[in-house]
Amino acid sequence: MKRITILGSTGSIGRSTLEVLALHAQGFEVYALGARRSDDVLLGQCLRFAPRYAVLEDAQAASRLQQALRERGATTEVLAGAGALQQVAAEPQVDMVMAAIVGAAGLDSALAAARAGKRVLLANKESLVVAGELFMRAMREGGGELLPIDSEHSAILQSLPERRERWSEDVREITLTASGGPFRAADPHSLEHITPDQACAHPNWSMGRKISVDSATMMNKALEVIEAHHLFGMPAQRIQVLIHPQSIVHSMVTYHDGSVMAQLGVPDMRTPIAYGLAWPRRIASGSAWLDLARIGRLDFEHPDPARFPGLRLAYEALDMAGGACAVLNAANEVAVQAFLDGGLRFTDIHRVNARTLERLGRCRAPELDALLDLDERARREAAAQARALAR
Ligand code: NDP
Repeated sequence: MKRITILGSTGSIGRSTLEVLALHAQGFEVYALGARRSDDVLLGQCLRFAPRYAVLEDAQAASRLQQALRERGATTEVLAGAGALQQVAAEPQVDMVMAAIVGAAGLDSALAAARAGKRVLLANKESLVVAGELFMRAMREGGGELLPIDSEHSAILQSLPERRERWSEDVREITLTASGGPFRAADPHSLEHITPDQACAHPNWSMGRKISVDSATMMNKALEVIEAHHLFGMPAQRIQVLIHPQSIVHSMVTYHDGSVMAQLGVPDMRTPIAYGLAWPRRIASGSAWLDLARIGRLDFEHPDPARFPGLRLAYEALDMAGGACAVLNAANEVAVQAFLDGGLRFTDIHRVNARTLERLGRCRAPELDALLDLDERARREAAAQARALAR
């Protein structure tokens, strides 16, 4: 019986994780669930999975949840605050932690799990984008296992040699596939007036709103290039991106002998989640079976830099080193939120990101405190840029 803490349990990845766990009640016990303020969703999850702890960052939402659980006679203990998220990520009873909080807000609790030597199922790619070297060091020192949940990185892991020391020797390059999102074929000049709902209408995946907008701008792929660089120790020039609109080939590894290994499946996050939960074994995920004859064809194309200018920012940020990736991530979080709130044009997300990176990308931030300071500065700078561009 493995005990699991799920951080971000009320979100898209959190809910999919609970769906997979519901298929394997004999093998896993939900130890703690955590989120920001969705007490109503968390209440339902607590009643269904009876975790020992439920954590909400927001204190008022936490007291509403406590009250509602008491009225129903449930024994789950409710904790509040960001510190409590770290606590339930690091407790000795916990075997694995699903890190599925969205944004840099997920960094501290993911780091706590890494330092405590847990198996970390990392959906929160921002942890690696903001603090890749620190996070990987924390994993090594903690002695736990890092299993990426992003479908692309899970696919790469499944396609790499089993022994890590062969990764750099045998592999020529890795290729992250991208669906191209809802505007893959759109005229770049037509994107200015895109609404948040249009940007979030992803053709293949059902996801939270932040990552859906990132998919539409391809900033998601930019963040994933940075994530892959840290996860697999691969230099940026050996990480390629290829658009694959059907989202069936989840990513691939090219070896020096010309072989290409890929992982395929229907686009369903329950598959990489089940892989992370059971690794190195395989368990049912609830996903549908892949029927290639019905799909009929698989297409690939290079991303158009005019339509997706954000992608190159990942390579620029990796080249700048220092805190540039944290700056890019912070700018993008601010810009996407401003767009979702109706205060910024879709096409201005890139302008905010590029300008903030240009201003602050060369700042050094070798340790966590400096990185968090830089993250704050980048947010202020990006907010000022967004205000200047506001419609
Ligand atoms: P959602 O927006 O659906 O869910 C976000 C979750 O994070 C919610 O549980 C939310 O709680 C919680 N949360 C947000 N801010 C805080 C905070 N400050 N403290 C505690 N909890 C917080 O996001 P997704 O599930 O789509 O994405 C989660 C992560 O997984 C992201 O990093 C994303 O990039 C990554 N990912 C997602 C994929 C997907 O298919 N959705 C695919 C691959 C990666 P509340 O409900 O209370 O606000």
